[in-house]
Amino acid sequence: MAVLEGLEFGKSDFVLLDEVNIEQFMENLKLRFEKARIYTFIGEGVVSVNPYKQMDIYGKEEINAYRGRELYENPPHLYAVADAAYKAMKRRAKDTCIVVSGESGAGKTEASKYIMQYIAAITNPSQRAEVESVKNVLLKSNCVLEAFGNAKTNRNDNSSRFGKYMDINFNFNGDPTGGHINNYLLEKLLRGGSDDMLKSLHLHNDPANYVYTRDGAVATVSTPPPHPPPIYCKMSDSTQGNLQFETDRESVLVVGMGDVSHIAELTSTEPDNVTKSLLYRTVATGGGEVIEKGHSEKEACFGRDAFTKALYERLFGWIVGRINAVIEVKDYNPVLHGKNTVIGVLDIYGFEIFDNNSFEQFCINYCNEKLQQLFIQLILCQEQDEYRREGIIWQHIDYFNNQIIVDLVEQPHKGIISVLDEACLSVGKVTDTVCLESMDVKLGQHPHYTSRKLTPSDKTMEFHRDFRIRHYAGDVTYSVEGFLDKNKDPLFQDFKRLMFNSSNPVMKEMWPDGQLSITEVTKRPLTAATLFKNSIVALVEKLSCKEPYYVRCIKPNDIKSPALFDDARCQHQVAYLGLLENVRVRRAGFACRQAYTRFLQRYKMTCENTWPNHLMGTDREAVEAIVTQHGFQDDVAYGHTMLFVRTPKSLFTLEQERAALV
Ligand code: ADP
Ligand code: MG
Repeated sequence: MAVLEGLEFGKSDFVLLDEVNIEQFMENLKLRFEKARIYTFIGEGVVSVNPYKQMDIYGKEEINAYRGRELYENPPHLYAVADAAYKAMKRRAKDTCIVVSGESGAGKTEASKYIMQYIAAITNPSQRAEVESVKNVLLKSNCVLEAFGNAKTNRNDNSSRFGKYMDINFNFNGDPTGGHINNYLLEKLLRGGSDDMLKSLHLHNDPANYVYTRDGAVATVSTPPPHPPPIYCKMSDSTQGNLQFETDRESVLVVGMGDVSHIAELTSTEPDNVTKSLLYRTVATGGGEVIEKGHSEKEACFGRDAFTKALYERLFGWIVGRINAVIEVKDYNPVLHGKNTVIGVLDIYGFEIFDNNSFEQFCINYCNEKLQQLFIQLILCQEQDEYRREGIIWQHIDYFNNQIIVDLVEQPHKGIISVLDEACLSVGKVTDTVCLESMDVKLGQHPHYTSRKLTPSDKTMEFHRDFRIRHYAGDVTYSVEGFLDKNKDPLFQDFKRLMFNSSNPVMKEMWPDGQLSITEVTKRPLTAATLFKNSIVALVEKLSCKEPYYVRCIKPNDIKSPALFDDARCQHQVAYLGLLENVRVRRAGFACRQAYTRFLQRYKMTCENTWPNHLMGTDREAVEAIVTQHGFQDDVAYGHTMLFVRTPKSLFTLEQERAALV
């Protein structure tokens, strides 16, 4: 049974800091990490520091300790958050979601797995066979995706660049009935993906991937899976540059045809057609005539890379589709089975800032602005609703609303994405620099946007190559170089047609748009940024009707050491995860609330007027007696049915006193 921790382990909730500043935050985080306390609450969310060693805190005993308990009755743990999300879902029939964020290697995927395992462990107490089988498939399906998402053999750094969102459906008993996975962030981001990111996708060295694919959930689907290993091999070969082009006088040629026949074999296409797709592009002229236009060497390389990325993207999408077919809720009858509720688990990269930030960071950081915006809205709306219901006078909450930054990026006609798209779609030759200039013109007045041209005194920025966004979590300077290329839809129709004509039916199925003739193809394909934006908007929409819980993961060092807390690296992550801002939002409202009956039941022993029973008129009066006796009357407000506590400090005091008595 978990017991409350003593003060020597630091504050178990950052909301309890005497002052919300970075020094105190870091001091507490470090102290706890050094004492092997890897979790710390921020209200109902938890901050996790990757321990880089096996922790003995995920056993049956812990699961039982957290099951059905209130947040402050146990030390901080993923299980506390998972349980809070589950309880809200079950008791109040609320859809909830758990957002797990942090940089690569921070422990997101591990955390998601523990959360899933916890939920699996606490559900279906009667061990009904059909529910057990659903749980089993859900847990396994995660493995399949992990197998594809984790390139353990290569730089693990980039393995988690896919946003993964999984819904778990529950019946009114609170038992899982199925689920659904979304991978939209992967495919859209890959369109604009850098070579670096692509290199991270070398999955071919890990045979486990394919074993998983065949033996996991996918094995039960009707169509046999294709043979992914060769595709991966080929993909990585070509991105590594094994498939190269040369220019001989006027014409561009493939260097060495061995690779081409290899590709043809693996994709079940004709070598001649592969070569043709690599070297030519079919275009429709203004007069409706269709001609073939030879690529320049540069265009050929661009096309090859885009093709490689698209192959992976489509395959991944296909796998997710197969998994979903297996795990989706079947034959659910709300009349028979009651309301279907959902817990969503989102495993997504957090805010990123590197020495050189490009289009990918721009997209990821925009995504994090959106999630922060959602966080603010949900927390505040939730609070307001509850205050109204409970008859509490609304307190103004002082926090920074980042809507203005979200607008800077996504507003139609004047946001950054819109300027980018305009530049990509314009007929003339527009360079990155020209695009930056039009951003300066449109956004120069924006308080969160700046470029060197606008503030020439800023020596930290390169002359007119960079622009800077003042994000909610801090300033990030982006190099505009490559933005336009990455934003364009890079895949020529010729490749789509090539794959649609594959004699392998599964390949064909992945490329339905390959049947369109060049004249049918939309002239203005959606850009990578717009596709990404659309997917984020869809994600936010999905999350916005759910009650959110947060897990923020931090990587303590870059050498996977269980003993090193790299102050600078950690502080950086704390800043870019927006943790201080989260603490402020949390502290601004009432951090905790508890129904009077529940509160009494738990704490009546700490007050002589309420122990063993109170003789007051109502439970509320009895609660008032306890609160007053402990002297935190200024920290609370009394609702119709529950007590609101501004800082959890008061509850901690009570918990400690209670612990001393029992
Ligand atoms: P991310 O998904 O954020 O990229 P992972 O969840 O894959 O990161 O974690 C990276 C590695 O860190 C894991 O392979 C594991 O070795 C270690 N790790 C992460 N979380 C834990 C944990 N709770 N306990 C032990 N090791 C962990
Ligand atoms: Mg991961």
